[in-house]
Amino acid sequence: MKQYKIALIKGDGIGPEIIDEAVKVLDAVASCCDMEFSYQEALMGGCAYDITGDPLPQETIQIALSSDAVLFGAIGGEKWDNLPREKRPESGLLRFRKELGVYANLRPAVVYDELINASSLKPEVVKGVDLMVVRELIGGIYFGEPKGRDENKGWNTMVYTRPEIVRIAHTAFKIAMERDKKVCSIDKANVLDVSQLWREVVEEVAKEYPEVKLSHMYVDNAAMQLIRDPKQFDVMLTGNIFGDILSDEASMLSGSIGLLPSASVGAKIGVYEPIHGSAPDIAGQGIANPIATISSASMMLRYALGEIAAADKIDAAIKRALSEGYRTQDLAQYDAKEVCSTSEMGSIIANYVAKCKH
Ligand code: NAD
Repeated sequence: MKQYKIALIKGDGIGPEIIDEAVKVLDAVASCCDMEFSYQEALMGGCAYDITGDPLPQETIQIALSSDAVLFGAIGGEKWDNLPREKRPESGLLRFRKELGVYANLRPAVVYDELINASSLKPEVVKGVDLMVVRELIGGIYFGEPKGRDENKGWNTMVYTRPEIVRIAHTAFKIAMERDKKVCSIDKANVLDVSQLWREVVEEVAKEYPEVKLSHMYVDNAAMQLIRDPKQFDVMLTGNIFGDILSDEASMLSGSIGLLPSASVGAKIGVYEPIHGSAPDIAGQGIANPIATISSASMMLRYALGEIAAADKIDAAIKRALSEGYRTQDLAQYDAKEVCSTSEMGSIIANYVAKCKH
């Protein structure tokens, strides 16, 4: 029997609620796929600050590094918003990604046919959307120096080096080779020097993937095109801040931010997490949608553990729950036959995983 060590970082807000449901589904998959998971919990975010004074205790990094993969909930909340920047939950998360070296964030945006009416766009515009945002995660303006502020001025710096662009471009082209072989690189090369370098380097890397069709788009146009005709995209390659914004925009194509998973990879240990935050406005009410996190667990099986059949089982179970009309509160007005709680949705999906034959 295969055994895997999973680090669980539940975090703040709805984090613990959604991770518990992903664990329920992983346990269901383990019992029917001849594998076993051992979980070790680690603290990060506001809860870590409250207990240890640090949003990213060293122990958390050690636990992550000694595991096969990290399943992460979400961090943050108003309670910690006024702390000095390095003590804030978000700083812990940025530091965590940097320490692990996970430079590539993969964010698929898929529109489920069952939820075609949940999108704010017309069904004919979103039906069949299946794109992947490949976002650079540990460089760019979120990390560039110098940065700072005084009373009257605040400043950050967008920096990318050639090696940083080369490695994320390779990630995007390799993923495109497994998909429809199209990469659209998003930048602001008409204004930013850093984007001019980005474009040049992406062109160079593209030569190694002659089968992949490369196009370039300015980020403002990309934001518009995602709404106008999202089906034109296969892989969208972006830097950190542009990817952050575009992937949230892409999430609304699918109807709810509560549906979309992500994988942060590129180093030995990958981090698998929903794209949404800690949703303090709904925390503790049992109404959060756990599907993004369950789907992240499926990405973990697929990309970190190579357990493709098990990942397929989870994806099929999610689809079945949706096609049978189960909806959490966020999607309640879209063809719901039954509105269920966070925990009920987790149990329904776990149950379908256990029954799934293929
Ligand atoms: P958010 O993603 O937490 O919430 C935005 C909106 O989407 C809210 O109305 C929320 O209720 C809803 N939502 C989010 N996830 C949902 C789910 N699973 N089911 C149903 N509805 C869901 O973003 P925000 O409100 O801008 O940020 C809240 C906190 O989360 C902040 O402290 C922010 O810094 C933090 N944050 C953390 C991460 C992370 O941990 N990776 C990412 C983004 C934001």
